[in-house]
Parts: sequence; structure tokens; C-alpha cells
Amino acid sequence: MFSEPVHINGHLVQAFWICNRQVWLLGHSVSAEQSNEFLALGRLIDRNSYARERHQVAFGDNRFDFVQGADGEMVVCEVKKSSRAERSARLQLAHYLYDLRKAGIEARGILMFPTEKKRVEVVLTDELAAELDSIYAGIEELVRKDAPPVAESCKYCRKCAYAEYCWG
Ligand code: SF4
Repeated sequence: MFSEPVHINGHLVQAFWICNRQVWLLGHSVSAEQSNEFLALGRLIDRNSYARERHQVAFGDNRFDFVQGADGEMVVCEVKKSSRAERSARLQLAHYLYDLRKAGIEARGILMFPTEKKRVEVVLTDELAAELDSIYAGIEELVRKDAPPVAESCKYCRKCAYAEYCWG
């Protein structure tokens, strides 16, 4: 039984909608293949996009891609390679907004897909917060299992950093 506290961060929330096995591996700090070409592409896009903004802001167990502020309003931005997994990316960003709210900070979020020249605003509604509460419970239950769920092929496997681990 996993006895340590489960530190729920944005990556775990995002993974929850993609693959249960990925949640378990992330939750147990199993290192992803750093040379994975899709991770490298993500880092490159992150480094070259929005270069004038303040990058990589750490907050609790989270790391925001960057934060903008104007007229007393805080905007948390998350940069993604593509909008293919937009729903899970929205939940990841909503989780950041929720953690900020718990610390007394109201903010809104913007998802950015620079290669598609697309932006999506994310506002933390009561419905989203309730959905996140049930996701946290699901993550906790998954990570506390002794062994990872068996690998099940899905459309995300091809670009997953754990692909070698699961299928190699
Ligand atoms: S390779 Fe596929 S099964 Fe393995 S963790 Fe990634 S998404 Fe899940």
C-alpha cells in the first residue's frame, strides 16, 4: 500500500482523463523517457513561445507555464502542443485556479496552442470545482493501489512518454 501523501498536481489531473496507468506511474514518480521526441517538442514550443512572459511559476505542487497580470487581475497560462487533449488540459488549468482559490487568490486561465494560433479561456465554475473534487478522489484511489493498472492501448499511447515502458 502506498503510504506517502499523494501530492496532486496538474500533470496528475491531466493524466486522469488520459490513462489510469499513467496516473499511477506519475503518482509513483516513475521517470518518463526524457528523450521522448514529443516531450522535447513540448519543451521547444514552451521555450520559444511567449518569450517575454514570466515562465515556470512554482505554486505548491504545481508549476504554471507562465503568469500574466494586469489591473490587479491574475491570468495563469498553460501552453500545449495541440488541442487534441483539450478537455484534460482544461481540467489541469482549472486545478491550478482551484489551488489558487484555496489560497485566497482568484485568477482566470488561458490555454494556449501556439502552433494552432488558438486560445481558450478557462473560468473556475462551481461545476468545474465539484468535478475536480471527484477527480482528486479518483487519483488518490488509483495511486494508492499496489500495482499499476495493466497497459491498455489507447490513442494517446503513441505520443506518451511511458510508451517504451508500457510497450517496449
Ligand atoms: S503508453 Fe499508453 S498505456 Fe502506457 S501510460 Fe501511456 S497512455 Fe497509458
